[in-house]
Amino acid sequence: MSGRSHLHEFTDMERRLAFENNSELLARQFPDSVLFKNHPHYICESCGFVSNSRTDFNIDHVFPVAQGGTRNRVGKQVNTQLRNAQRADADGAEIDAAIGLLFRVGNNAAVLCTECNGRKSDLLYVPDGCGLAYTRHADDLNPVHMVSGPPRPAPRW
Ligand SMILES: [Zn+2]
Repeated sequence: MSGRSHLHEFTDMERRLAFENNSELLARQFPDSVLFKNHPHYICESCGFVSNSRTDFNIDHVFPVAQGGTRNRVGKQVNTQLRNAQRADADGAEIDAAIGLLFRVGNNAAVLCTECNGRKSDLLYVPDGCGLAYTRHADDLNPVHMVSGPPRPAPRW
C-alpha cells in the first residue's frame, strides 16, 4: 500500500527511533503496566491500538497543528500540493516546491497501525473511525480499550 512518497521516506535509524520513542511514550502513559515496562509494546498514534508486534505498524508523517493541521491533518491546499508532487510525471519545479512546503509545515515521524496508515496514504490524514483498534479489538492491548471497548470516532462537523 505504498505507491507514494519518494519525497519523504524514513531511514532505518529514523524508523527505529520512532518505534523506541513510541514504546517509551506508551510505558509513560500507563506507568502501572509492568508488561509495557518490561517488553516493548507500540501504540497507534491515531486509533490507539496497542501490540508488541512491529509488523502491525508503519512509520508515517504528521504535520503540526500550528502549521494548519489539526491532529495529524493538513489543510486541503497543502494536501493537494503535496499529492500533486507525488505524481509520476510531476516536474522538478513542482517537486522542489513541495519539498519547500514540507520544510515549512514540518514533517515528523508518527507510528500508525497498518490500517490507519493504509487509509491515510492518499489523503495525508487518517479518516475518523478506522484502525486496528476497531477491526482487531480482540488483539488490542490498550488498557483503556480493554476496559471500555474500542474508541469512539470523533464527532463529525
Ligand atoms: Zn490505528
